Amino acid sequence: GFTRIDGNKEAKSIRDEIKIEVSRMDASIHVVPGLAVIHVGDRQDSASYVSKKKKACESAGIKSVDVCLPGDSPEEELLKYILIFNEDPSIHGILVQLPLPSHLNEHNILKAINPKKDVDGFHPQNMGLLAMRGREPDFVPCTPKGCIELLHRYNVEMEGKRAVVIGRSNIVGMPVAHLLQNEDATVTTIHSKTKNPEEIAREADILIAAAGQPNMVRGSWIKPGAVVIDVGINHIEDPSAPRGRRLVGDVCYEEACKVASAITPVPGGVGPMTIAMLLSNTLTSAKRIHEFE
Ligand code: NAD
Repeated sequence: GFTRIDGNKEAKSIRDEIKIEVSRMDASIHVVPGLAVIHVGDRQDSASYVSKKKKACESAGIKSVDVCLPGDSPEEELLKYILIFNEDPSIHGILVQLPLPSHLNEHNILKAINPKKDVDGFHPQNMGLLAMRGREPDFVPCTPKGCIELLHRYNVEMEGKRAVVIGRSNIVGMPVAHLLQNEDATVTTIHSKTKNPEEIAREADILIAAAGQPNMVRGSWIKPGAVVIDVGINHIEDPSAPRGRRLVGDVCYEEACKVASAITPVPGGVGPMTIAMLLSNTLTSAKRIHEFE
C-alpha cells in the first residue's frame, strides 16, 4: 500500500512530549528553556517562519525572545545581540533567521554564536563535527533532523539502502546526506551541475528532494516502491488558488503517489517537523546546560 507521511501528526506528538518535559523541568528546577531569534530585514517568508517558531515555543511553554533589526543593520549590531544572548543564562538557544541581507557576512555571524546554544546547528564547529566519523555535534540542523526523524517514525530501513539527496546546501542537502550516511545508507548527492540526475534519482530507495525547484522530480525519476521526502517549499502562481499562489514541493506529488511507497506532502510533511526539531534542540540545550535528566 501507499503511505502519506504525516508530518503534522508526528510533529504534534513530538511537541506534546516536549511540552510535558518543559513543565517537568520547570516544576523540578524552576528553569524554562529560552530561545532567542534574531531576524534582520523584512522578507515576508522569513517573518512568517519567525512567527511560526515563536508561536510553537509559546504553545510548548518555551520562552522566546525575538529581536527584529532593520535590513540595513551593520554586522556589529547583530554581533552585539549574539554576544548578549551568549552570556544570558535564561537563553539556551540562539537562532539567526537566514538568509541574511547580502551586505552581512553569514559565516562571521554564525561563528559568533556559542556552539553550546547553536540550536540551528550551523556553527562551523557543529557542522564540522557532523561530518566527522565517531564524533557528535552538540546540535544537528532542524530540517535534516526532521527528515531522518520522519524516516525513523515510519520504520523506513536505511542501513545498506541507496539514498539520493537532491541539493547540497549547508542548510539541508549537505547535512541530510551526512545524517543518512550515519544511518548506514549509501548516499549520492545530486546538484545543479549533475549530469543525468533522473537516472541517478531512479536508483534511490530513499529520495530526498531539496533543490527549491517546483515539481522538478517527476514520476519517472522515482524507483517503484521508493520512499520520497520532499523538502521543497515553492510558491507558484495559480489563478485558481485563493491568493493566486499555491505552495508546492520539489516533487510532482500526483505522479509520485503512483510510483513511491511513501511520500511527504507539501505542506504538512517536513515543514512542521523542522519546527518540532527546533523546540527539541532548545529543550535538549536547556537540559544539558542545567544538567537536568
Ligand atoms: P538552496 O537554494 O540553498 O540550495 C538548493 C540546492 O539544490 C543547491 O545545492 C543546488 O545545487 C541544487 N539544485 C538547484 N537546482 C537544481 C537542479 N535543477 N538540479 C539539481 N540540483 C539543483 O536551497 P535550500 O536552502 O537548500 O532549500 C531547498 C528547498 O527546501 C527550498 O525550496 C526551501 O524553501 C526548502 N526548505 C524547506 C525547509 C522546511 O522546513 N521544509 C527548510 C529549509 C528549506
